[in-house]
Amino acid sequence: MIIAVLSGKGGTGKTTVAVSLASVITNSQYIDCDVEEPNGFIFMKPLIERTDVVVVKVPDIDPSRCTLCGDCARICQFHALAATKSGILTFPDLCHHCGACTLVCRADAIREVPRRIGVIEADAQDRMIQGKLDVGQPVGIPIITALKKRIQPQATSIVDCSPGSSCAVVRSLEGSDYALLVTEPTPFGLHDLKITVELVRKMQIPAGVVLNKAGADNSLIEAYCQNVQLPILMQIPFSRTLAEAYSNGRLPIHSGSRWITRFEELFQNILESFTGTPL
Ligand code: SF4
Ligand code: SF4
Repeated sequence: MIIAVLSGKGGTGKTTVAVSLASVITNSQYIDCDVEEPNGFIFMKPLIERTDVVVVKVPDIDPSRCTLCGDCARICQFHALAATKSGILTFPDLCHHCGACTLVCRADAIREVPRRIGVIEADAQDRMIQGKLDVGQPVGIPIITALKKRIQPQATSIVDCSPGSSCAVVRSLEGSDYALLVTEPTPFGLHDLKITVELVRKMQIPAGVVLNKAGADNSLIEAYCQNVQLPILMQIPFSRTLAEAYSNGRLPIHSGSRWITRFEELFQNILESFTGTPL
């Protein structure tokens, strides 16, 4: 089973929920797809035994063959190629590795060359994996694709998505059996929750909510969830103690069995919701 954990914005407690779930589930696998800012390992502290470089293919133009027809620059939707009178300028950072330019070049002047964009780090058993996009690289999707190829079907995989609803989140969500949406009881939290709900419903992925930083008045989120028939599976109270522990690299589950039990209950709630959620 693959459970994706996502939130509409950063700072809602997504990693707390993803890491805690992965820690309490027997036979789990944690995959940090937040490749621009992976931070689950700060709390899990795995021994990294494998580091694999992720490369993509970008065009390399042979000026001796190029006829300056400009077809490659015209087909590129990402402005990674520009035709000038004296040659084709390439901007590899903008390339999305679609291969269209190579296909349209009738002079056979383009070859694809590898370019490093980041790494995947993992423990010995591939039970804790994270992707890291190199600084300055704009597109992390190939790293997410490579991460997802390492999902172990026999495990319960927890996919920690990046915040928001970008292409990277869509790629991370693809193939998931369930989406856990982490939010907080504020107007911003509600706004971002609505976006993620729209996304998972478009992708037809059953979903439930974890309400983090819950306080005296959670009616904004509760009313919305009731309205759209979205179960709230867990509430984590706003707590200065939990916030201070987090800033020291400790999660609620590290502070006692009460929180371990609560995250075990969350997993049970997911399993029940998974079988009964109307989309
Ligand atoms: S499509 Fe090929 S021949 Fe035409 S400008 Fe591009 S590299 Fe040169
Ligand atoms: S591979 Fe695609 S994105 Fe990259 S330069 Fe060629 S057409 Fe543009």
